Amino acid sequence: MNKTYCYIHIPFCESKCKYCRFSSIGSIQKLQIEKYVNHLCCEIELSNFGNSNLLGSIYFGGGTPSTLNNKQIADILKSLKSKYTFDKNIEISLESTPQNIKMENLLHWENLGINRISIGIQSLNNKALKEIGRKSKEEIINSLNIINTFLLKINREIVISIDFIIGLPYVKKGGVLEDIKFILNKYKFINHISVYMLEDYYEKSEDTNSSYEKITYPNSWQNLGISEKYYLGEYSEIKKYLEGKSFYAYEVSNFSKFNKECKHNKAYWNHSNILAYGLGANGFIDNIRYKNSDKFQEYYKGEGIFKEKISKNDLFLEKVMFQLRTSGLEKDIYSKLNQEKIKYFIQEKLLKKDSGKIILTNKGILLLDYIIRELL
Ligand code: SF4
Repeated sequence: MNKTYCYIHIPFCESKCKYCRFSSIGSIQKLQIEKYVNHLCCEIELSNFGNSNLLGSIYFGGGTPSTLNNKQIADILKSLKSKYTFDKNIEISLESTPQNIKMENLLHWENLGINRISIGIQSLNNKALKEIGRKSKEEIINSLNIINTFLLKINREIVISIDFIIGLPYVKKGGVLEDIKFILNKYKFINHISVYMLEDYYEKSEDTNSSYEKITYPNSWQNLGISEKYYLGEYSEIKKYLEGKSFYAYEVSNFSKFNKECKHNKAYWNHSNILAYGLGANGFIDNIRYKNSDKFQEYYKGEGIFKEKISKNDLFLEKVMFQLRTSGLEKDIYSKLNQEKIKYFIQEKLLKKDSGKIILTNKGILLLDYIIRELL
């Protein structure tokens, strides 16, 4: 039976980070969260997605899902279980802030079957963290120490993923790499790392229709962080270092140890069916993309749901982008692209042939957007 993957959106955060483009609000009000979780459970139980029955993953994203108490997470999982069969190797991921990493939470999460925890670190530079509206390096280190003790206590493997952003204010060239080195040398249990560029956050958010706080990326940050021309060089250095530590880039921004890739991410890039529940959540079922409203009132009434059948052409364009960002272009895809351009990019060492596929070289990764534009 084909597996389906499931995304659960939790739109609450302790405060709003200055660069944030997600559907989230920066306040935690118990009653509001309770109402939201009750509605979310009803949404799951009353939904009807045909034959999408076997779940290969559940991803609690946000927002900050770790702001939910343990009963609320258990209730959501119970609703999902009443509706779907969980695959025996199901991946259940939960995004957490460092401050929500507490021993009692970790033990509860493990007990609920959560086997992948993704922690938004972003930087170990206290000035940068303060500027973007986050807590401190000390809190991050404390959370990693707690995880270390926790992993020694349990008999189960949990994937621990951490996120960084290149280009934050006050972080100088080489700063992100230094942070990653420091953490990997001290905490051997980390087996997945995501590295994003602040620029991406900025560009993608410009045309957002979100009704929430608009992006507040201040122009002055460009003078406080590494300049644009260093972004990509910084990325290359990080990639080289991580490869030396047995991490591989299974997607341009995502590095993992062997067999520790995020199943949920991969499902998204493979155009697998994704169920999505919660405010502003995006799903993809049988080539139809849908998105819940990102306004609470509409969401609670089941209104404002956007649906769009993806045309064959758009599906093809997405495949080109996803395959280039991940394992490379397969023959049935690259044979339909401009062959002269492919030849030129191979000559320029931006692309190369590898096991019957066409993949990006390290130099090509740095020019990914340009290559995609030219190939299409
Ligand atoms: S970046 Fe993450 S933690 Fe910060 S406000 Fe946005 S969703 Fe919340």
